[in-house]
Formats: sequence, structure tokens, C-alpha cells
Amino acid sequence: MQAQGMLEMSLSTDVLVIGGGAIGLATALELAGQGAKVTVLSRNFAEAALHAAAGMLAPQAEGLPPGPMLDLCLGSRSLYPAWIERLEILTGIDCGYWNCGILAPVFSAGSDSPSEKFSATSATPSLWLDSNSIRQQQPGLNQQITGGWWFPADGQVDNRRLAKALRVAVEQVGVTIHENLIVQALQCSGQQITGVSTTAGEWQAATYVLATGAWSGQILPIPVVPRKGQMLSVQMPLGDETTQSLHQVIFGDRTYLVPRRDGQVIVGATSEPVGFSPGNTPEGMRSLLEGAINLYPPLRDWPIQECWWGFRPATPDEWPILGPSPYQNLVLATGHYRNGILLTPITARLIADLIVHKKHDPLLEDFHWSRLEAQPGASNFETSAALRK
Ligand SMILES: Cc1cc2nc3c(=O)[nH]c(=O)nc-3n(C[C@H](O)[C@H](O)[C@H](O)COP(=O)(O)OP(=O)(O)OC[C@H]3O[C@@H](n4cnc5c(N)ncnc54)[C@H](O)[C@@H]3O)c2cc1C
Repeated sequence: MQAQGMLEMSLSTDVLVIGGGAIGLATALELAGQGAKVTVLSRNFAEAALHAAAGMLAPQAEGLPPGPMLDLCLGSRSLYPAWIERLEILTGIDCGYWNCGILAPVFSAGSDSPSEKFSATSATPSLWLDSNSIRQQQPGLNQQITGGWWFPADGQVDNRRLAKALRVAVEQVGVTIHENLIVQALQCSGQQITGVSTTAGEWQAATYVLATGAWSGQILPIPVVPRKGQMLSVQMPLGDETTQSLHQVIFGDRTYLVPRRDGQVIVGATSEPVGFSPGNTPEGMRSLLEGAINLYPPLRDWPIQECWWGFRPATPDEWPILGPSPYQNLVLATGHYRNGILLTPITARLIADLIVHKKHDPLLEDFHWSRLEAQPGASNFETSAALRK
């Protein structure tokens, strides 16, 4: 009876989105906005990297070289203000979007001194600040900092608030969400996906979207692997004029500080190739605290609030895998690695346009799965044990 009920429900779905993290929820929202009937199947919202992230919108501070990935990231950054506004109007939830700019200090003059490293354009404003200017921009920095880059167009979003808003928004637009179930395998016949088997029975739809983040390699033979990131937060004293405070993101070599408007400061992040091994470790916490105090010494006295960790979906070239798959009705939206929050609006738009309007944006070309075919972890889709014929 139960299986039949699910089949009836699944037949009323145009698109089945597998994974309810940043990419899955935003894509479901966009698809529903374009008139599709959408169902999201997800194992666990809380484990999504969406919750673990720092929420930096940092295509410039990340130092991405000119090319398709930088273009994609800049494109998404420019979508953010309107995208967030729509989400906030729909849900009434403040997502903490803050165009605060990002400051990237350097500790010694050298290759990072005011050279041509970052050439400013109207789309990518950047400014080298010398030792005095950087202290005017952000008092309290380590005395050994000799200067730094200022990226006024980079910023941040409060990704936990964003998670809440996306969750509320998809339900408001009629997306059906099923949580606490695991998609175990895709079933296929020739070039078509015919269904998915899950811990709660089988589901069918006309089109499927794979948006399972770091876990994507468990469903399809694509080279997406987890890259663990540990984080912690401290509470900045507020309302005391005599106390120094952070009012922009500070992006160091190994550590970054992301001050939220409510005074919480996110300190991130480790980057560890340790599979899905859970937990915060003493070494992870030590390196974060050391890095944070080194960047901004006043923080040493602020109370620690929370520690957590998450898994970035990493690909060999650190670019996402977007668009068509070898299956006519399976679309890939995964592998966003360390820029998935930034890339959420543009991914949702590109994937929804592809599915609903068959619009194949040229931007997608460079992110096609086939570029990674020869990589370890990528085997022939058709011969994969993950797919049941
Ligand atoms: C510590 C850390 C800091 C980061 N900081 C930033 C940042 O500052 N800026 C930025 O842009 N990005 C950042 N990122 C990266 C960003 O968080 C990710 O790229 C993004 O969240 C990926 O989104 P996703 O939807 O693909 O995956 P996720 O958000 O991880 O969601 C995947 C979902 O799929 C579900 N799922 C997995 N397997 C199955 C299955 N078999 N069946 C059903 N459901 C399944 C999971 O339960 C999960 O809910 C950070 C990540 C980490 C870990």
C-alpha cells in the first residue's frame, strides 16, 4: 500500500531533486517558480554543508584566476542581492546578506605586495592598502601585517539563515520535501533514468537532479569527494565604543574571520582529506584559534560559542559539475567545493533553465562532467554498480 501511494505521488512530480542542501533546495525553488512540479528527497538537512559553511561570497578574495570559474562566481555574486530580496519577501526571513567587503591582509612584502596580482575592473574592484591604510580600514590587526587587498564587492550571507529561508520558501511554492530517506541507487534503462530506489521505496519522475554534495560519489561514479572543514565561532563584544570590533570579513592565508551583524564571528576553516570522519579535533581547533589570534589579536579574549564541521564536495579541478549527464533525464549539480554558497543562485538558474526551457547556457560547457572522465573516481557511468539496469 505504502509503495503504491509513493508511486502515485511520484508520478505527479516532474522533477525529483536528490539532496536538500544549498543546491538542491535553491534549484527546487527555481524549478517550482518556473512552473515545474518538484519533489526533494533528502537524507538529513542538518548534515548539509549549507549549515556548516561560513557564507563568504568571495570570488575575488579566493584569488580565482581569470577564466570560466571566476566568471561563474562573479555572475553568481551579481545575482545575490535580487535573489536574496526575493527570498526574504517570500519568507519574511532575514538571510543576513551583507555587502561588507573582504579584506585580505598579507604579513610580508613580496609576491603579494602591490603588484598586478589583482587587476581592478568595474566588475572586480580591488585596492591595495599599505600598512597605514589597512589599519584605518580595520583597527586591531596584527602589527606584523604589512598591507593587504581590499575587495569591496565581496561579502557574505548568513548561511544558516539562508538554509531556513530556502526550506520555508520551497514549501511555500509547493515543493514536496521528504527528509530522512536515503537514495540508494538510480535505476536506468539505456540512456534513461527510470527511477530511484530509496530506504522508503521507489520513486519516479520525468527528470532527476543529482544535488547530493560531498556524497555524490556514493550514488554515481563521479569524482566528488569530501573535504572536511572544521569551524568555530566566538562572540564579539557589542555596544562598547572602547572595544575594537570587526566590520568586514578578514581573509588570511589559512584562516578567515567572518563577523555577523549580531556579533558572532565565524572562524574557519580547516581543509582535510580525511573522508567522512566526523568531529572537531584538538589539532583542528588549535590551528583555527592560532590563525585567528594571529590575524586579529583582540579576539583572544572573546568567548568561544560553538564548534562544528562539515564536508565540502571537492572535485579534482575544484570546479563544480553542472548540466547534462550521460542520461537524457539526469542533470548534475554537484561538486561546488568551497564556493557552493556563492554559486547557489547561478546554479539554480542554469539548471532550472536547462530543465524547463531546454536552455543550454554556454556557461555550462566548461562545467560538463566529461572533463573529469579520466580522473580517479570517475568510471564509466554505464558500467557503474551504482546504477541498476
Ligand atoms: C567548513 C565549510 C566552510 C564553507 N564555507 C563556504 C563559504 O564561505 N562560501 C561558500 O560559497 N561556500 C562555502 N562552503 C562550501 C559550501 O558549503 C558547499 O559547496 C555547498 O553547501 C554545497 O551544497 P550542496 O547542496 O551541493 O551540498 P550540501 O549542502 O552538503 O547538501 C547535500 C544534501 O544531500 C543530502 N544527501 C546526500 N546523499 C544523499 C542520499 N544518498 N540520499 C538523499 N540525500 C542525500 C545530504 O543529506 C545533504 O542534505 C563551505 C563548506 C564547508 C564544509
